[in-house]
Amino acid sequence: MFKNESYADKIIDGKIISLKVLEEVSKSIIDIKAKGLNPSLAVILVGNDPASSVYVRNKKIMCEKVGIKSTEFKLDENINEEQILDLINTLNKDSGTNGILVQFPLPAHINKQKIINKIAPDKDVDGLHPINAGRLMNNVESLVPCTPQGCMIMLKTRHEDLSGKNAVVIGRSNLVGRPMCQLLTNSDCTVTQVHSKTLNIENYISRADILIAAIGIPKFVKAEWLKEKSIIIDVGINRISVNSNGENKKKLVGDVDFEEAIKKVSAITPVPGGVGLMTVACLMRNTLIATKLQM
Ligand code: NAD
Repeated sequence: MFKNESYADKIIDGKIISLKVLEEVSKSIIDIKAKGLNPSLAVILVGNDPASSVYVRNKKIMCEKVGIKSTEFKLDENINEEQILDLINTLNKDSGTNGILVQFPLPAHINKQKIINKIAPDKDVDGLHPINAGRLMNNVESLVPCTPQGCMIMLKTRHEDLSGKNAVVIGRSNLVGRPMCQLLTNSDCTVTQVHSKTLNIENYISRADILIAAIGIPKFVKAEWLKEKSIIIDVGINRISVNSNGENKKKLVGDVDFEEAIKKVSAITPVPGGVGLMTVACLMRNTLIATKLQM
């Protein structure tokens, strides 16, 4: 991929790291199955969003691989909120369901927060319920959102001890940016959160030993903004058009200008092949944790 081979060492490989996580999950699942438990995940998909259908299919395949029973509830686009809440209520009470995941986005007429609030906190494998967010804030054991959990595992492959590092998180969503800041704070980093209203964002980025980019703008972060030898975790998944031999093709890129950044930093995650793989692996991990919480 690179003319200079030394760059290869800089890649934090999501494929290798996620496989390791999945191996550990599989082993634990064998152990708890021997105790008569059968970890299971219920996935609720509302409507026909093509990207969501792909994500749900990938989750199902991964469940099969690690030995988790998965059940998909495919609901009509026009279903009303009460019917989804009723289904979640039933799944909350069902002892044969250990994890509940609602695939986002939901149709505009559904109140997302109401749906999240309904999921029993110990079955909330996305870690989005306010009780789990509160537990994370208090640095007590909780179901941690999958993507930031995956980012932490990747970071720790390069630095077991993150204490005292300057970390900058770009983005403040409940799914990525906010829990990411909590996790880094809980690991004794000094954390700065920047977002769409931050002025002179590059001044903050230039001081980051660790940079987490979760924006959703292709190649937003320029190499010249980065600190030498920093570690970059690129959460962004952006589909762009590229012209290859006169043909218009689609390509996935992150929020960081990877090709230029890799020359300057000490380590970086690629897109694809980085954080995305960790997210699914951590969902399996969370389903296992949820099962144990209910034991
Ligand atoms: P979001 O849209 O909810 O949040 C984006 C954040 O970026 C916002 O907090 C906003 O303040 C910030 N932002 C927007 N424009 C900015 C600007 N010009 N300067 C600075 N900050 C700006 O998105 P999200 O759910 O947090 O996801 C972010 C990205 O990560 C998306 O590309 C998404 O597809 C991707 N994502 C990837 C995974 C994965 O598994 N790899 C998981 C979740 C999200």
